[in-house]
Amino acid sequence: IYLSIYLSIYLSIYLTTVGEVLRLYRIRAKKQLSQNFLLDMNMCRKIVRSASHLKNHYVCEIGPGPGGITQAIIEKNCRHLTVIEKDARFLPSLKILSGALEDKMNIIHGDVMKFNMENLFPEDAKQPWESHPPYIHIIGNLPFNVSTPLIIKWLSDISYRRGAWRYGRSRLTLTFQKEIAERIVAPLASNERCRLSVISQHLCDVDLKFIIPGKVFVPPPKVDVGVVTMTPLIKPKIKLPFELVEKVLRHIFHHRNKKCFYGIKTLFPVDQPQLSEEMVEKSGVNPSFTSYQLSMEEYDRLCHAYNDICQRIPAIFEYDFRATPKQRLLQSNTVAHQVKENIL
Ligand code: SAM
Repeated sequence: IYLSIYLSIYLSIYLTTVGEVLRLYRIRAKKQLSQNFLLDMNMCRKIVRSASHLKNHYVCEIGPGPGGITQAIIEKNCRHLTVIEKDARFLPSLKILSGALEDKMNIIHGDVMKFNMENLFPEDAKQPWESHPPYIHIIGNLPFNVSTPLIIKWLSDISYRRGAWRYGRSRLTLTFQKEIAERIVAPLASNERCRLSVISQHLCDVDLKFIIPGKVFVPPPKVDVGVVTMTPLIKPKIKLPFELVEKVLRHIFHHRNKKCFYGIKTLFPVDQPQLSEEMVEKSGVNPSFTSYQLSMEEYDRLCHAYNDICQRIPAIFEYDFRATPKQRLLQSNTVAHQVKENIL
């Protein structure tokens, strides 16, 4: 009891000394949770400033850890803050922080990968998709090990307007390993252009705000970190289901430095070469271009051409050139059967 009273007073007086949280609770970073902490409050405030104004916003912070960014968010006078943290060791200090905020902060002990944001915000925070973004912001110094699968999952949610995007075009301010941040914002024909660039930019306005040197973190990771903001677009650049766009991009970027035709061919069984030729012809793209030389408009045309073929021959979408030989044979036979039916 005395310890907790002491900690309450201590933390409410010294809210800015995040390092003390680690010392008081004897917390050592866990590698398996990608824990690299930001103890420098100026840096935490700089990240939060990238999110522009948070006043009156409903904010959700991913992985608050010892709470540096959490405190910087609180200083911005947001309307309500929810934090999602997997490591139970941080719950006591987060509880003390939330105590100071009365009912304005909510702590969720859980895994963000499994967490559904569908009902996280009040209904009156909702904005029509076509209007300005709602007063909702998702922010976090993401653990490296979940950042890429998490952003892919959220981009899928954005495309289907579900989860936090059921409320409108909720904005994000997130950290990524520098190379990943550069890929997200990579322009056409750049060295960093990849599947993640096209899939992010077809759904969102993306901006790399600044780079944080690795040495600022405790413990320091081997790489630097980029702070990226993302605002969902009113109209996605490719108006087709997420899984279809993702599949086309995955296949074409798999052979990043080869002619895009190599990747296109892997979308179809080897005994149906006319289908890859049809996809190229319908889309009007130059099959000699490499994946990173193709513009968003060209990807749009490629995805639509692939979709047209899938509409006519549904088994094509299920075809997976990486399946076992036995499965691939079965899939190829179904495709051949549907192609034949189509011709008749
Ligand atoms: N925000 C803190 C900071 O900037 O100092 C900590 C950042 S640290 C890079 C990542 C945080 O995310 C850690 O607190 C870690 O425990 C938490 N974390 C890791 N995996 C998580 C998951 N799947 N769901 C929620 N939190 C997670």
